[in-house]
Amino acid sequence: MQSHARVVVIGGGIGGLSTLYHLTQEGWTDVVLLERNELTSGTTWHSAAQFAFNQLLLLFRDYTIKLYKELSEDPSYPINYHYGTGGMRLLTNPAHLE
Ligand SMILES: Cc1cc2nc3c(=O)[nH]c(=O)nc-3n(C[C@H](O)[C@H](O)[C@H](O)COP(=O)(O)OP(=O)(O)OC[C@H]3O[C@@H](n4cnc5c(N)ncnc54)[C@H](O)[C@@H]3O)c2cc1C
Repeated sequence: MQSHARVVVIGGGIGGLSTLYHLTQEGWTDVVLLERNELTSGTTWHSAAQFAFNQLLLLFRDYTIKLYKELSEDPSYPINYHYGTGGMRLLTNPAHLE
């Protein structure tokens, strides 16, 4: 294993993997990711859906839906991406409605 890198990402959950992926998409090559267990074995393993509580997260979710669809259509990425349209949230008080 190499002992030096321009960027060392620690942790192979969605945060670290996304950071590594997007750095390489931007052309960074001297990057390495360190994971002490298995990739996605942290809290990412428990996460089944994409939450969006505000406008920023809605934009983020929109981006990830497109990205995951793209990745799932690429035969070199062995992932199954299940996407159901929409979601439902029950509002129980005026603040939530606002
Ligand atoms: C039960 C549960 C259900 C959830 N459901 C959802 C959901 O439905 N939708 C949603 O959006 N979010 C959900 N979340 C939240 C979401 O899973 C987390 O916000 C997200 O996974 C965090 O990602 P992360 O990359 O920051 O951390 P993690 O996925 O925990 O990754 C951190 C990684 O770093 C590694 N690591 C730690 N220290 C070191 C070290 N010193 N050296 C090397 N590696 C190290 C760990 O082994 C781990 O793999 C849920 C969380 C839980 C616990």
